[in-house]
Amino acid sequence: MATLRSKPVVTVYVRHRDSCNHASRGQFYRGCDCAKWLRYSRDGRQYRQAAETRTWGIAEDKAADLQKQLDAGEVGTVAPIVEAVQPTISQTIDTYLKGKLGSGASTEEAADLMCIWRLLT
Ligand SMILES: [Zn+2]
Repeated sequence: MATLRSKPVVTVYVRHRDSCNHASRGQFYRGCDCAKWLRYSRDGRQYRQAAETRTWGIAEDKAADLQKQLDAGEVGTVAPIVEAVQPTISQTIDTYLKGKLGSGASTEEAADLMCIWRLLT
C-alpha cells in the first residue's frame, strides 16, 4: 500500500526586525508590524514565502488562499496539466480510500473499502 502523504498546512509567522521590541515574543506574536511570512512543508521540504503584508489578518487571508491552492494541488506544478482531468474510477476510489484511512476509519471499514475497491478495479 502506498504511503499516505500528510497534507501541507500553511502557517503564518512573523520575521521580526532587529529593532523590534517584541522580537523576544516569538514568531507567532501578532502585535507588531514586522513582515509576515507563510510557510508549509510538503514532501518533506519546507517552503517559505513572504506574505507581502505586515498585517496578521491579511497574512491569514493569504495563507487561506495558499492553503486552497495546495489542497487543490495547484502549487508547485511547473505548468497546469489540462488533459487527464477525469480521474478513472479506481483513482477516485483510491483517493477516497486514502482520505478515509487518513481520517481515521476503523480497520473493518478500511477492509470493506478495500473489498469494494478490488471489485471495481
Ligand atoms: Zn516584530
